[in-house]
Amino acid sequence: MISFYPGPSRIHKEIPGYVRDAASEGIMSINHRSDEFVAMSKRTIGLLKQKLSIPRDYTVLFTSSATECWEIIAQSLITDVSYHIYNGAFGQKWFEYTHKINPVAVGLPFDPEQAVDASRMQFSDAQAVICLTQNETSNGTSVSQPILRSIRKNNPDHLIAIDATSSMGGVMLDFKSADIWFASVQKCFGLPAGMGIMVCSPRAVAAARAIDERNHYNSLPFMLDMMDKWQTPFTPNVLCIYLLMRVLENSDSIREVHARTEKRAADWLGFLTKKTSLQYLIQNPAVRSSTVIALQGEPASIQKIKKEAKQHGFLLGEGYGAWKPTTFRIANFPTLLDSEINALRRFLQN
Ligand SMILES: *Cc1c(COP(=O)(O)O)cnc(C)c1O
Repeated sequence: MISFYPGPSRIHKEIPGYVRDAASEGIMSINHRSDEFVAMSKRTIGLLKQKLSIPRDYTVLFTSSATECWEIIAQSLITDVSYHIYNGAFGQKWFEYTHKINPVAVGLPFDPEQAVDASRMQFSDAQAVICLTQNETSNGTSVSQPILRSIRKNNPDHLIAIDATSSMGGVMLDFKSADIWFASVQKCFGLPAGMGIMVCSPRAVAAARAIDERNHYNSLPFMLDMMDKWQTPFTPNVLCIYLLMRVLENSDSIREVHARTEKRAADWLGFLTKKTSLQYLIQNPAVRSSTVIALQGEPASIQKIKKEAKQHGFLLGEGYGAWKPTTFRIANFPTLLDSEINALRRFLQN
C-alpha cells in the first residue's frame, strides 16, 4: 500500500535500513544523558538548520508532537491575549486547546477561499501572541510567505507562532518572519510518527526566559535549559532523532526540495484540470497548499475512488469533518516517488 495520506504518510524508502542500523549500533537503548546521545542530538540540530535554512541564532527543540507545541506555547509564552488566525480544523483545534488554558484567547477565523488580509492583522497590545496555521492540512490551503512577512512587518513587537506541521521540510519557510515554528515528523519529513520539532527565534527564547513559567515538565524555560546541553527534560524519541539525522544527511537543501514540491504541485494541477469529475476543494489557486491537495466531487464518484484506490494499493487521505463524503486529500510530500505519483495518476485517469 502506498500512503498518500497527508500524515502519517509514506516514510522514506531508506527507513527500514536505518532502523536496522540503529538496532545494530545499539541506538535504541542509549541513555539520553550519554555523550553518544548528546553528539547525535547536536548533529541532528546542525543538519536541520543547515538543510532547512534555519537561522543560526534560532533554537531547535525536540518535542513529542505538534499538538504538544500548541500547549507549550499556551503555557509558557502566552501571558495575555492570543490571536488565532485560522480557516480550518487544525487552526481551530489550536485555538480551542489554547482557550482552555487561557480563556482570553481570541479566534479570528477566515474564509478558506480568501487570502489572509495582512493589513487587517494589526494588533495593538504588544503582549499578544499571534498564532497562525501556515498550512491547513484539513482543507489544503496555505498562507503565503509574502503575507507572513507583511504580518511580521505590521506587528514588529509581537511574538508570532506558526503551525507549519504539514509544510516544514517540504517547502521553503522564511524562519525570520516569525518567532516560533513547529511541525511533526510524520508529514513532510517522511518519518514514523512520534516526534515534534519546535524552532524558536532569539526573541521567543528571551520572552520564555523573562516569563519563566516552570510548572510543567515541558515548560519552555526548562526545555531551553536542557537544550543548552543538547538534551530534553524527558526521555525523547531517540530512534526518531537518529532516523531524522540519517534522513537529513542524505537530503537536498530545502531550496531544491521546494522546487521539486512546486513542480509536482503544478503537475497535479495540470493533470486535475483535465479531469472534469474532480475539482479542487478550494477554487482560489492563490491560497492552495503545495503539500496537501484537497479534491472534491460527487459523493458517489468520491466513494468509488476511495474504495477502488485501496484495492489498487493506494491509501488516500480522508476528507475532513463535514467534507468526508465529498472530498479526499492527497499528500504532495517529498518522500513520494515519481513512479508512485504516476501510478496514482494512471489509476485516477480511469
Ligand atoms: C498533523 C497536524 C497537527 C497535529 O500533529 P500531531 O503530530 O498529531 O500533534 C497539527 N497541525 C497541523 C496543521 C497538522 O497537519
